[in-house]
Amino acid sequence: MVQSMRTAEIAGAGLAGLALAAGLGQRGWQVVVHEAGPVLRSGGGGLYLSRDGFWALDQLGHSETFRRSSFEPRGFETWINGRLHRAHENHGVFRTTLRQNLHNILADAARTAGVEIRTGSRATGVDRAGVLLLEDGTLRAADLVVAADGVGSRMSAALGLTRDHIVHDDGLVRVLLDRTGLPPGEWDWSKDFWSYEGTPLRILYSPCSVDHCYLVMMTSAEDAVRLTLPPDPALWTPAFPELAPLLHRAPKETRFDRYGSIRLSAWASGRVALVGDAAHAMPSSHARGANISIRNAVKLAHALTATDDIDAALAAWQAEMRPAVDADQREAEHLAASRSLHRGRPQIDLDELVPSNMKTA
Ligand SMILES: Cc1cc2nc3c(=O)[nH]c(=O)nc-3n(C[C@H](O)[C@H](O)[C@H](O)COP(=O)(O)OP(=O)(O)OC[C@H]3O[C@@H](n4cnc5c(N)ncnc54)[C@H](O)[C@@H]3O)c2cc1C
Repeated sequence: MVQSMRTAEIAGAGLAGLALAAGLGQRGWQVVVHEAGPVLRSGGGGLYLSRDGFWALDQLGHSETFRRSSFEPRGFETWINGRLHRAHENHGVFRTTLRQNLHNILADAARTAGVEIRTGSRATGVDRAGVLLLEDGTLRAADLVVAADGVGSRMSAALGLTRDHIVHDDGLVRVLLDRTGLPPGEWDWSKDFWSYEGTPLRILYSPCSVDHCYLVMMTSAEDAVRLTLPPDPALWTPAFPELAPLLHRAPKETRFDRYGSIRLSAWASGRVALVGDAAHAMPSSHARGANISIRNAVKLAHALTATDDIDAALAAWQAEMRPAVDADQREAEHLAASRSLHRGRPQIDLDELVPSNMKTA
């Protein structure tokens, strides 16, 4: 017999926090989400969604909304030194979207489920008894407190959990662009360009709507000149002449990141849980970090409504999900390390350049 009106306070209205909030709200929980930013925003241009993300959206009842508002690239091509190396056709295995679109879908799902989302509300600490501390000094007690505050989260320290943060060798700049006017068909493919002539460089071109695409421009993190925002087209077009028309377009949005991994000794302590990148950030080398985050968040909502005993639910959730998420994280780290531009041309079969979830046909 599940008790009614459980309460949750969630720090962070990113994809993971919103997915959990929607899942709990739909199951009768009273949920408040605190977002530090002044508005609900998802930076980074576009995003790949595949089986884990599809599953989570289906559970939340929003897979059709997502399908209608996202894009299905025709496939995934790998180019090396200007030559096509492999082409894998997509048969509904992955879709792309503007990040903001997925963010809006999850925020709508949460609000429709009765969740209150407070922007400009920064969490500064947690207590394992189930208390969230806000910047304005307010203490918010709940049956469950959740840190969903992303890769920069420091909440685990207050819970006595150990936290390994690995920063990988490469740096990335993401650029969101208008892609109108490109020849149709050909540019509806995702195209992963690697250049090993001169400085090793990569640009992943991803169409993420009919009108938009984003570029992930990658080089060794030591290559500070190429990683400045906005990126200088003159430093990238010699290696990627086929992208010159795009590289000269004015970016709608730019963002710099390093590949990083977070590994915690546990995802919960007392009445506090951690979800998403705060718990298990991983390099975006297989483009699944957000997929895994929202799946894991929905799984937590399921576990919490399967029993009255919150402690038992948190333990069951970790026992079920941790082995798979750890394995996904190791795969992402292996891909990031074996394809590291910092280390030069990889000493592996070049087909390994293609993440397994993109090898669709
Ligand atoms: C270059 C790159 C490309 C990627 N591409 C993909 C991809 O194609 N597919 C994929 O599945 N994954 C991808 N990922 C991974 C994905 O972006 C993350 O896994 C996902 O965004 C994690 O979501 P989150 O909600 O845990 O964290 P975040 O998205 O970081 O959200 C955290 C939220 O918490 C808020 N916050 C922070 N601190 C506080 C605080 N103290 N109080 C209140 N609020 C706070 C922030 O403002 C933010 O809104 C990529 C990552 C990178 C770096």
